[in-house]
Amino acid sequence: MKCVKCNNKGIIRIGGVSFCKDHFIEYYLNKVKRTIEKYKMFDKNNKILVAVSGGKDSTALAYALYKLGYDFEGLYINLEIPNYSYPCEDQVKKLFNLIGKKLNIIRVSEYGVKVMPIGNRKVCSVCGTIKRYLMNKFAYENNFDVLVTAHNLNDIASFIMNNLYGLNIEFISKNVPVIEREEKLVKKVKPLYFTTEKEDLIFVLLNNLPFCNLECPYSENATEIHWKNILYNIEKNKRDFSLKLVSSIERLSKNINIEKREFRFCKICGYPTESKNNVCSFCRLRNYFMGK
Ligand code: SF4
Ligand code: ZN
Ligand code: ZN
Repeated sequence: MKCVKCNNKGIIRIGGVSFCKDHFIEYYLNKVKRTIEKYKMFDKNNKILVAVSGGKDSTALAYALYKLGYDFEGLYINLEIPNYSYPCEDQVKKLFNLIGKKLNIIRVSEYGVKVMPIGNRKVCSVCGTIKRYLMNKFAYENNFDVLVTAHNLNDIASFIMNNLYGLNIEFISKNVPVIEREEKLVKKVKPLYFTTEKEDLIFVLLNNLPFCNLECPYSENATEIHWKNILYNIEKNKRDFSLKLVSSIERLSKNINIEKREFRFCKICGYPTESKNNVCSFCRLRNYFMGK
């Protein structure tokens, strides 16, 4: 089958059409660029921080932003998960050497916490609290205008399914392409909102980029994986189901009337929290590890 844009042989089939290598790369970059511009995520005057994990999605994101001419720094949070975090750090370093951008690296132990299950709480929930808090803290304290994350269409769709199932309508409405700055919470954006995992991976492979293809040893416990499998099965019959789901929820969320969050400030670290006892979830974790 020929490429939809030229006479060359198509090597990748996306959404019923074929692309040659060059036209796939062009299609991918255009998709990311359109998302950034449509949602006014950032422009070339902003101080941009890109959160990277070494995986295919954040590798694709950082390289796409580089190719689109954005200036940015990277942030790698080393979660200190055995047989995973250090090999991934090596790949991130290689990528940032290649693109010539500054990479910031922080380790969770420097902040007195550890990624592990605690009581009934699953390890991914603990990990999520740590990552969200440290990304924002680093971005805020280093005066970044915007924090960019590599959530893709499949991540968003599985998050929506999980929260629809759990009747967490508020959570769904928060999972939009842009969350504006509020108090000490830096603006957060998701330029890969409409790219699929498959597209991210192809972009990384076609550009021969270094990336970490190790799975986190805890990933099989992640709820997200179950929903991704369900969506994968639905898409065998309905190819664009995730895209339709995400687009519908994005439109609907504009009409969901969610009460504005009432922020308090954590009495330990000073960052915003919705916790009634004025101690944020990160400080509660740190207290736990300090035996308080
Ligand atoms: Fe963290 Fe869970 Fe992802 Fe591993 S799978 S990096 S523990 S959220
Ligand atoms: Zn072509
Ligand atoms: Zn706190």
